[in-house]
Amino acid sequence: PGQKQTHGFQAEVKQLLNLMIHSLYSNKEIFLRELVSNASDAADKLRFLALSDSSLYADDGELKVRISLDEANRTLTVSDNGIGMTEQEVISHLGTIAKSGTKEFFSQLSGDQSKDSKLIGQFGVGFYSAFIVADKVTVRTRKAGTEQAVEWESAGEGEYTLAPINKDSRGTDIILHLREGEDEFLSRWKVESIITKYSDHISIPVEMWQEGSPEREEDGEKIAATEGSWQAVNKATALWTRDKSEITEPEYQEFYKHISHDWSEPLSWSHNKVEGSSNYTSLLYVPKKAPFDMWNREAKHGLKLYVQRVFIMDDAEQFMPSYLRFIKGVLDSSDLPLNVSREILQDTKVTQSLRKGCTSRTLKMLDKLAKDPEQYQIFWNEFGQVLKEGPAEDFANKEQIAGLLRFASTNNEDATQNVSLADYVSRMKEGQEEIYYVVADSYQAAKHSPHLEVFRKKGIEVLLLSDRIDEWLIQHLPEFSDKKLRSVAKGGLDLSKLDDEETKKAQQETAEAFASVLERFKTALGDEVKEVKVSHRLTDSPACVVTDEHDMSTQMMKLMESVGQ
Ligand code: ADP
Ligand code: MG
Repeated sequence: PGQKQTHGFQAEVKQLLNLMIHSLYSNKEIFLRELVSNASDAADKLRFLALSDSSLYADDGELKVRISLDEANRTLTVSDNGIGMTEQEVISHLGTIAKSGTKEFFSQLSGDQSKDSKLIGQFGVGFYSAFIVADKVTVRTRKAGTEQAVEWESAGEGEYTLAPINKDSRGTDIILHLREGEDEFLSRWKVESIITKYSDHISIPVEMWQEGSPEREEDGEKIAATEGSWQAVNKATALWTRDKSEITEPEYQEFYKHISHDWSEPLSWSHNKVEGSSNYTSLLYVPKKAPFDMWNREAKHGLKLYVQRVFIMDDAEQFMPSYLRFIKGVLDSSDLPLNVSREILQDTKVTQSLRKGCTSRTLKMLDKLAKDPEQYQIFWNEFGQVLKEGPAEDFANKEQIAGLLRFASTNNEDATQNVSLADYVSRMKEGQEEIYYVVADSYQAAKHSPHLEVFRKKGIEVLLLSDRIDEWLIQHLPEFSDKKLRSVAKGGLDLSKLDDEETKKAQQETAEAFASVLERFKTALGDEVKEVKVSHRLTDSPACVVTDEHDMSTQMMKLMESVGQ
C-alpha cells in the first residue's frame, strides 16, 4: 500500500478556481447542484456499463445520492453509489481541465477579473465549485468492479494529496469542510430547499436523513416511536419523461444547466414526444452563448443519448447536422437497441430518421425564436456564422434555413446583421426581380463599394456580405422564394426595367459618345481585361472592375489565393 503523495494542479485549474470563487460568490449554493449533477452522471455511467456486465452492481442496484450534514464537524457530504473513479481518473478529472483548446483559451484572459469571469462561464462550473463554500474538500472514491479506493484532498490552493484507503462500498463521497460563515449549509431545511430548486429533475433519488420521532401521546392515545430513515427530497423522474404541461420554466432551465455544463440560462427550448412509426422524446436547447471551442474541429458536441431512459452516451453527434452543432439536449429513443455503439449509430435507418426529426424540430424552434427579433439577434450574433454553413450542408432544408439568415444591408445605418431575405423581398422595388448583394472583405469595404452607387441612386436595397463564409453560402443559395440572388459586382446586370424611357435614351447617347474613348482603353489595357464598357452603374466613381457573370468573383479569387490555389 502506497503513502500519501502531493500533486500540483494544472495551471489552468488554479486560474479557474480563483475566478470562479470570485464570480460565483453571490450564488454559492450552486455548488450543490454541481455535485449532485456529477453524482447523477456517475449513476448514469454505471447503469450503462452494467448493461453488458451486471456484476458491476454487486448487490447494490438501487442507484442514489445521499446528502449528510454533520454539525459537530461542520461538514456536508454528497455520496453516491455510481461508477466511482480509479486513481488515474481522479488525477485527470480532479486535477486538470480536459477540454481541448483550454490552454489557448486561458492564455487569452486579460487579467481583468470582471471580464474574465464572464469568459470563464463557458467552462461550466463543475466539481471545483465546492471550493466556493469549503476550505478543504475530501473525495473518497472506489471504482465499480475494483477493490482499491483512493482519497483525494485539497484546500484548493495549488495542490492536492492522494492516498490509498479502504472503502466498503463502490462510488464516491465528496466531503466539504465548510468555510467559516457557511453554516447555513448545515441546515437540513436550507439544503433541502436548494435540492428542490436545482435538482428536482435528477432522475435518481437524492436522499436526506429524516430523524424519527419519539413515543408520544396525543388526545390520550399513544403514538409509537418512529425510526429515522433516508427520504428522497426530489421528484426523481427524468424530466423529459414528464408531461410538458407539468414542467415549469425554471425546471427546464435547471435541466439545461445539468446537461450542458453551462452556467447561464438557455435562450430557448423545444420538448417533443413522438409516437408512431418512430418513438422518441427530444428536449433540445439553444444556448445563449457560443462555447469557446465552437470552431475547434476536435471539440465535442451533440446530444445526450438515452435508450428507453437508460443513459447511453454523451456527445452523440449523429443526431444533428454540423451547422446545428451548438444545440444541446437529450434524445431518448425506444427504437435503438440498448447495446447501441457509436459505430452502429453511424448507419442505421433509425439514426437517419432521428436526425431528420431533430433537425426539423430545431429549425422550427429557431423559426419561433425569430418572431422575437431582440432574442433572435442574441442568437444570430453568437451562432449565425455556423448557421450559414446550412444551405451547403442540408439541401432538403435549404429554403427554411435561408429564411433564418440575417444580413447587413444598405437599408441599415450600421453593420448589424438583422435583415432577413423575406424583409428584403418585401421591400423590393416595382419591377425589381432579383435580390442584390455585394461581397467584400469587411463591412466598411462592402458599404463603400463603387458598385453600389447606382443602387443607391435608384433606392434599391443591397445586402452587404463580409463574413468569411459568405461567398461559400451564396454559392449554395442561388435563390430565395423564386428570386435569384445576384452579385452587384458581376456582369449582365440589367437594371433597365427600373429605368424610364428618357433615361434609356440618354444612356444610349452616352454610349455612342464614348465609343472612341473605350477603344483607347482597350488598346492600353490589352490582355489585362476582357472588355471595356460604358457603365450606367456608377454615379460618383469614374470607373470600376467587374467580373463576368460566370467568372469567379474577386472575393473568391482572393479566397482561393489565400489557400494557395
Ligand atoms: P463535468 O461534470 O462537466 O465533466 P466536473 O468538474 O463537474 O465537470 O467533473 C469533472 C469530472 O470528474 C467528471 O467528468 C467525472 O469524470 C469526474 N467526477 C466528478 N464527480 C464524480 C462522481 N461523483 N463520481 C464519478 N466521477 C466524478
Ligand atoms: Mg459536473
